[in-house]
Amino acid sequence: MRLYSTNSPDSLVDFGEAVLRSLPADNGLYMPETIPQLGDDFWATWKTLDFQEMACRVVSTLLQGVMPEDDLRAIVCDALNFPAPVVKLDEQHHVLELFHGPTLAFKDFGARFMARVMAWLNKDSDQPLTVLVATSGDTGGAVAHAFHNVPGTRVIILYPSGKVSGLQEKQLTALGGNITALEIDGSFDDCQRMVKSAFLDKETAKACNLTSANSINISRLIPQMLYYFEAARQFDKPPVFVIPSGNFGNLTALLLATRMGLQVGHIVAATNANDVVPQYLSSSSYEPRASVATISNAMDVGAPSNFARMVEIFGDDWKSMAAAISGYAFDDRQTRAAIHEVKDRFGYVIDPHGAVGYLAAEAWLTQHPDDTTVILETAHPAKFPETMHEELGADAIDVPERLACLADEEKVSIPMAAEEAALKAWLAANPA
Ligand SMILES: *Cc1c(COP(=O)(O)O)cnc(C)c1O
Repeated sequence: MRLYSTNSPDSLVDFGEAVLRSLPADNGLYMPETIPQLGDDFWATWKTLDFQEMACRVVSTLLQGVMPEDDLRAIVCDALNFPAPVVKLDEQHHVLELFHGPTLAFKDFGARFMARVMAWLNKDSDQPLTVLVATSGDTGGAVAHAFHNVPGTRVIILYPSGKVSGLQEKQLTALGGNITALEIDGSFDDCQRMVKSAFLDKETAKACNLTSANSINISRLIPQMLYYFEAARQFDKPPVFVIPSGNFGNLTALLLATRMGLQVGHIVAATNANDVVPQYLSSSSYEPRASVATISNAMDVGAPSNFARMVEIFGDDWKSMAAAISGYAFDDRQTRAAIHEVKDRFGYVIDPHGAVGYLAAEAWLTQHPDDTTVILETAHPAKFPETMHEELGADAIDVPERLACLADEEKVSIPMAAEEAALKAWLAANPA
């Protein structure tokens, strides 16, 4: 597989380079040069295979020639070591639960696959790969868990002291092993500035074999395709997928799956008040802007980073994108009401992101009452205790063991001044 940058279609890189770099130097996004179709042999058996086996066949078709088949299989099976179940609410409403991974959100799929691919790419080096990340909370936790105990890698996380929630801090600081948390006496912006300057310093970057596990890394989208296959094969008629969206990585992954041949009834993009894409779909004018804060905060994005990939997939043709995807946006008041409605109507506890999806499913079903929708539940409700307790009360929320036990874990962090030189000095003293 070769990839081009959306900003310079003529310069191609191989898969390994695209994964280790995350971002092309020209600030575009990496896109596959061609997307292979799954063959009749796949479609003849896809409903009979187990999740991991089906996933292996999809990924090896897409990544032909990138690495030996057995290595790729091992990576896929290790990354997808938790299920993606479809829960039926009624004939028209289904929920695809993507929160059964270690940090209870769908980002575990992408991050776990990326970590293992990066380790494989670095396997012949005598120096471990150092993943340097700045986090304001959630991303760092998903990346840290994804790389935890992956041989030949270590993760250095920078987080702003006192500015992440107690549980988030435990997710970053209690893992130990190949994960190190630097607690910065400053803001998230300071953390980002320090990370950026370490990358720009060629000496440091080389001495520490630095890489970034950026959220727009192409390797994250690949495993996110797989749960759409998993869900779609449970229906006779292709379902309508409803996707609560922020940076539109999840939705872009579905577009890639359809290019490999997956049939869908329709695609519904659901957003909160940050409705740049629904606006674009209805008006054809794209106007990114600053994000506003909502209770579905993982979707508070004013300039979605995967939008360029979506445009590319539709050949820069607004009409065909608007025909394939319908967008709906809802505010916090509606989202809170939806959390109640889903509980009252189906006895199901849905998180604020999934609730935005439910509202969009309802909007779609009003026009298409005989369709079957699959709403992506992108995170576990226990990750949003404040909103969930306000709406349904503490008793309504089951806290999974892997979240509950974090409270007893010990925080281990290294305090550091918010200075670029401090990070560089630390890296020089701890090259690997
Ligand atoms: C990241 C995230 C989203 C948004 O996903 P995108 O791929 O950025 O559109 C939605 N819900 C939750 C819980 C998330 O963590």
